[in-house]
Amino acid sequence: MLKTVSGSRIENLWDVSHADALSESDKLLYRSNLLGSDKRVTNYGGGNTSAKVMETDPLTGAQVEVLWVKGSGGDIGTMDKAGFSTLYMDKLTALKALYRGVAFEDEMVAYLPHCTFDLNPRAASIDTPLHAYVPKKHVDHVHPDAIIAIAAASNSQDLTRQIFGDSIGWLPWKKPGYELGLWLEDYCLKNPDAKGVVLESHGLFCWDDDAETCYATTLGTINQAIAWFEEQTAAIPAFGGKRHPTLPAAERRRIAAALMPAIRGMISADSHKVGHFDDQDTVLEFVGAADMPRLAALGTSCPDHFLRTKIRPLVVDFDPAAPDIDATLAGLAAMVDAYRADYTAYYQRCRHDDSPAIRDPNAVVYLVPGVGMITFAKDKATARISGEFYVNAI
Ligand SMILES: [Zn+2]
Repeated sequence: MLKTVSGSRIENLWDVSHADALSESDKLLYRSNLLGSDKRVTNYGGGNTSAKVMETDPLTGAQVEVLWVKGSGGDIGTMDKAGFSTLYMDKLTALKALYRGVAFEDEMVAYLPHCTFDLNPRAASIDTPLHAYVPKKHVDHVHPDAIIAIAAASNSQDLTRQIFGDSIGWLPWKKPGYELGLWLEDYCLKNPDAKGVVLESHGLFCWDDDAETCYATTLGTINQAIAWFEEQTAAIPAFGGKRHPTLPAAERRRIAAALMPAIRGMISADSHKVGHFDDQDTVLEFVGAADMPRLAALGTSCPDHFLRTKIRPLVVDFDPAAPDIDATLAGLAAMVDAYRADYTAYYQRCRHDDSPAIRDPNAVVYLVPGVGMITFAKDKATARISGEFYVNAI
């Protein structure tokens, strides 16, 4: 299911005859896997989905309302049923009486295991209150590329209103946790007609009492943002327009094959690395664009992205109009050294007394004009996922 649908709009893949035969919890899994199958809807591991379902209590035999919500870890696109935590809604509601205010919100995490339904071993995530307190049966939370572009803009509140009117609200940045759950509940109660909310610098929440409508609302909201961006940018070339020619596919692979072992040798002193090469159209458009060096140096806008990609990539000095791979290889060690020095300075500048030790200071993402993107990590899957995150960032 790890595919990127071509075309600019996200396709509605809901199959009514399939979905209608499913239990409510299986339907939630179906919806989650559909949403996560397109990386433009949410990045790998990002976002979570939930449903409030009536279940039979194993102790009393009574019907009780249970929150099914993606548990800690996992990815909505590839998860299975075991990836959901299950919690009694009445116990989650009772937690409100224990809440001592935002300064103490982190202590609420320890109460969540006490709300577990049916001895489910999947740990509840810190996002659980964000789903529990929205007074709707179904809630989707995702990090769509088009919504992050709005949410991370300095005027994100104005943009949200301009694009969505009253149908989708806006909340300022708040660390995911208990307080944000109460904010979402408060927003829903005060705006009963709203279908969702953009969270500043974070992503999107949509809700409904019907599972299919919730899914359709999430896709519709993302597609509305995509359409708005297309309208705004129709006359503007992306990333400042094309500067470098794109080499033919076989030539791109030849250059990548020359660079990858050389880079790998320079960055593997402390741990071995595996590389992944990506030359999809989105990547080629970006690495060949006039503004690429400036935009790459700005860094990614979303913390979820730069945890995987580091704050910025290394732009390899290579001119596809006059390819000289020997010259590029000869200059590579200095580029890799300069990146390490820059990253170390960034760490020193931003560290706090309680910060963890500096991580591997080597670049994860290497952009090569006319050729594509190379990512390195401890194994192939992690290298590929880091590349997917940089595509989200692009
Ligand atoms: Zn999120």
